[in-house]
Amino acid sequence: MSTKNLSTIFGENVFDCSVMKARLPKNVYKKLKKTIDEGVVLDPSIADVVANAMKDWAVEKGATHYTHWFQPMTGSTAEKHDAFISPTDDGKVILEFSGKELIKGEPDASSFPSGGIRATFEARGYTAWDCTSPAFIRDNVLCIPTAFVSYTGEALDKKTPLLRSMDALSAQALRVLKLFGNTTAKRVITTVGPEQEYFLIDKKYYDQRKDLIFAGRTLFGAMPPKGQELEDHYFGSIKERIAAFMKEVNEELWKLGVRAKTEHNEVAPGQFEIAPIFNTTNVSTDHNQLVMDTLKKVANRHGLVCLLHEKPFAGINGSGKHNNWSMSTDDGQNLLEPGTNPHENAQFLIFLCAVIKAVDTYPELLRLAASNPGNDHRLGANEAPPAIISIFLGDQLTDIVEQLENGAATSSKQGGELRISASTLPALPKDNTDRNRTSPFAFTGNKFEFRMVASSLSIAGPNTVLNTIVAEALKEIADRLEKSVNFNSEVQAILQEIVKKHKRIIFNGNNYSDEWVKEAEKRGLPNIRSFVEAVPFLISDKSIALFEGHSVLNKTELHSRYEILLEQYIKTINIEALTMLDMAKKQILPAVFKYSTIVAQSINEIKTTGVDVSTSVQADLLKEISEVLVSFKANITKLEKALEIANFKDDIYERALAFRNEVFSVMNDLRIDGDKLETLVDSSLWPIPTYSEMLFTL
Ligand code: ADP
Ligand code: MG
Repeated sequence: MSTKNLSTIFGENVFDCSVMKARLPKNVYKKLKKTIDEGVVLDPSIADVVANAMKDWAVEKGATHYTHWFQPMTGSTAEKHDAFISPTDDGKVILEFSGKELIKGEPDASSFPSGGIRATFEARGYTAWDCTSPAFIRDNVLCIPTAFVSYTGEALDKKTPLLRSMDALSAQALRVLKLFGNTTAKRVITTVGPEQEYFLIDKKYYDQRKDLIFAGRTLFGAMPPKGQELEDHYFGSIKERIAAFMKEVNEELWKLGVRAKTEHNEVAPGQFEIAPIFNTTNVSTDHNQLVMDTLKKVANRHGLVCLLHEKPFAGINGSGKHNNWSMSTDDGQNLLEPGTNPHENAQFLIFLCAVIKAVDTYPELLRLAASNPGNDHRLGANEAPPAIISIFLGDQLTDIVEQLENGAATSSKQGGELRISASTLPALPKDNTDRNRTSPFAFTGNKFEFRMVASSLSIAGPNTVLNTIVAEALKEIADRLEKSVNFNSEVQAILQEIVKKHKRIIFNGNNYSDEWVKEAEKRGLPNIRSFVEAVPFLISDKSIALFEGHSVLNKTELHSRYEILLEQYIKTINIEALTMLDMAKKQILPAVFKYSTIVAQSINEIKTTGVDVSTSVQADLLKEISEVLVSFKANITKLEKALEIANFKDDIYERALAFRNEVFSVMNDLRIDGDKLETLVDSSLWPIPTYSEMLFTL
């Protein structure tokens, strides 16, 4: 494999356009391509031909099975394998794969979360081929990306609403483009490049930690003497073992057509990042699932474990996912790229302001879409990024936007120099060199970087929300522009109004400062402190009107998602709490008892020499251990009680809140005691690998 060069292995396991073109009859290929590029409905009559070509190609490559690969609400991917074989009359088999099997599948779906949409007596769910994301072969299985819907047509997965949101955005963006005189674009697609952060630890330590096994994060663990304060890991040279791992990850991903590009060490010890080149949102989302999956699988082969959790180690930077997002026409024009002339600039400013309007109108939905239980340790906790949504535009663009508020912008500051353009609109800065790493939503020259997204989360959710809220903003703009008498002055008026109304969302300062929290409150920006508190916004009237208005999710689907999210939170914290109790009682307590006995024995021994033991170091130590131990034990009891009370609540939201407010907070107290004990007990008796071992011995 390593002898092959990149261009031969790239995409070798993907049934992509070049393979289709080579293997499909011309008219079939053309029809399929039209569906892929323009989103027109698939002509079912071509399915048999495509299926057969796909099967032949896959079998030549050694595939024996196929699967409808889908993304249920669990957040990971699911597959059920079927062999290509069909029995014949003479007791033999032939290899077969029909159009029907390609287009539609019927997995037994009863065990996937549906949030009450699908009663088990009608557990049928269907998978439907998504031909806009190419099929691929992994481990001798032909994987066909599919959407997953219920018998009654409701979305049971993350892909369906994402595809719908892409359609919604395309429809509205095209309206606006048309008004600007673009008659050639057939579709506007959203593009995404997600940067994925992750940790690696040695498998031998992982296997000894129940918390990592069951919860994906450490529930106990005292800080090592050295943390990340030296920041010597960031962009440092990559160690051989890690380099070998990354090489294999890249090769696996390239074969699957994932354009993995950059890789580097992150800030925290043991933390890394991988980023592919951006792609269509739908494909990027599928690819990100493959990236997460591949990281885990390949790590295993190298005696490593990949932790995708948002906060595997307390006190050490956590992981996130930077969702770089933009819109472009099917003929390749990036709509968030500042133009070179006043006309293009007006169009750019309209799209830019649509995003500003969208983000300021629906910050709660964005906050929710980026969240999961693990991200509560980051958002709004003492780590980047904050829970308050704001937009970073950079000084130059902010300056222009402020001019818009007072009428038309006429000048553009560029490196201090003032440029006046011929028309009413200024020449815009082409290269946004400003950087602000603290902003949750930053304009980075020709795209927005949404930096709040949880590292282990599918990016389908965040992008569904982004697409839909921007579609809504564009819709309102298009409604007005279509009715306008004087197009140019209406553009000016709209820009002016948007800036006036929504400029409070723009913030170029330090998002981590306490002053910003106060300032944001003054500006009326929401500061939602936890995942649980964000969930109800999904079923607010405003949210239902938005998602129904663009046919992305209906009320039933939204309510089901509300239930699923809360259920997931409750389950997550419940597992964490039970794991903590188990570790506390079966591992930590026995170790502390053992050590206390040794110290007590030592005291007895000194006693026989006639020395006053009450002032001895041993007595001091024993006293200190006992004090912490009393508190530790009391917190164990408290946690058991809190769990019991929380689980007893009938209403699902009340239950989730109890887990957040009671259970979670006692867990923190218990951890403080446990970590204190770790620093007091003889390290040779400590039953679980320490932070130092896990983070500094890779
Ligand atoms: P940084 O680390 O400075 O944030 P990177 O270069 O690592 O920047 O990541 C930038 C990401 O943004 C890459 O995945 C890149 O492909 C992606 N990107 C670039 N242009 C676009 C675009 N038009 N739409 C979506 N993503 C984009
Ligand atoms: Mg980034």
